[in-house]
Amino acid sequence: MAEAKATAPIIMDLERVNRTPPCPSCNHPFSLGDSAVLACGLWEGGPRYVHANEAVWDPKSGTYVERACWNSQRGK
Ligand SMILES: [Zn+2]
Repeated sequence: MAEAKATAPIIMDLERVNRTPPCPSCNHPFSLGDSAVLACGLWEGGPRYVHANEAVWDPKSGTYVERACWNSQRGK
């Protein structure tokens, strides 16, 4: 994905809605106007777009982390 290094939230426009897979955090597809961030998570592979309100900014790594993943890391 060309935007793999993006760290700022993006707003889903029609093109992004069409080419972005459903949010791996809540499994809902994105809608026009949704805020999304590229986040690490419990899924296989690299960062994926999730809804911005389902991710937490991690200043240590300089990346967003999906909330469930974040909570599990902090619980240890
Ligand atoms: Zn979501």
